[in-house]
Amino acid sequence: MENKPPVLGSAAEKTRNTPNKGGKLSIKDFEIGRPLGKGKFGSVYLARTKMGHFHCAIKVLFKSQLISGGVEHQLEREIEIQSHLNHPNIIRLYTYFWDTKKIYLVLEYAPGGEMYKQLTTQKRFSEPTAGKYMYEIADALSYCHRKNVIHRDIKPENLLIGSRGELKIGDFGWSVHAPSNKRQTMCGTMDYLPPEMVVGQAHSDAVDLWAIGVLCYEFLVGKPPFEHEQQTETYSAIKAARFTYPDHVKKGARDLISKLLVIDAKKRISLEEVKKHYWVESMLQARLRAEEEEKNMRAASLRNH
Ligand code: AMP
Repeated sequence: MENKPPVLGSAAEKTRNTPNKGGKLSIKDFEIGRPLGKGKFGSVYLARTKMGHFHCAIKVLFKSQLISGGVEHQLEREIEIQSHLNHPNIIRLYTYFWDTKKIYLVLEYAPGGEMYKQLTTQKRFSEPTAGKYMYEIADALSYCHRKNVIHRDIKPENLLIGSRGELKIGDFGWSVHAPSNKRQTMCGTMDYLPPEMVVGQAHSDAVDLWAIGVLCYEFLVGKPPFEHEQQTETYSAIKAARFTYPDHVKKGARDLISKLLVIDAKKRISLEEVKKHYWVESMLQARLRAEEEEKNMRAASLRNH
């Protein structure tokens, strides 16, 4: 990779509310804090700008590793896409810069950490939490689809949690080419594939609808609906949309999931319909009410001290 990939420059200048107001940044402009995590091509650190103390996450990617992985052009494309997305449920890519060996992505910091970790710790989410997340992801994907961007790799591993407990789509699409090893099983990475991709047909933005159906199930059950020991079993279950619900999954959630996990991509409900679905609406309200009550209780306990 050259020191100056063509895409670097234009998008950064167009991005508003960035920690750099004009001029090219370098790593010397940041105070680097604790490591937040490690990806396939580099590490992510908590950081803040020396000027203005703007908190962010910096992803450091090694050019040599990007080149040997054959993903440098993919990175450029994903940078171009993500730097133009500005939505409360999508991690912002504020800007980026590079030196001779490394590329630095300056990202919005998600203090709540990884969705996958939360789900593993809690085993499964409550209905209000899952419903609120469904609203948020539907809203974020609807915004992307309006911009003709299909995510194609929605799963808990690619989601983070913001400061107010909100869902944030992390690395945009980039993870398609940087498969994580967070799921150990072979079929783990296949769990979110829609039937049209399993059989190698052309696909559309409806792949994201299938994926959020799988996601909703995993949020409520703790594992995805088509998980099997053998990859071939997972494939055939996906192709037939064959899965069962544990007893605790209630009618409203089942109704939503069954309208997303539809073999015919054209018959899946739309993202706007997901947002307005009666279960999503009532769970969103329940969760917001609970948050309000918690806030009031905290305020009351502070007053009593
Ligand atoms: P990635 O290379 O994107 O898979 O990132 C590796 C890990 O770093 C993730 O699994 C997260 O734990 C962490 N991470 C990445 N981006 C952020 C961010 N914007 N805010 C907080 N943690 C992050």
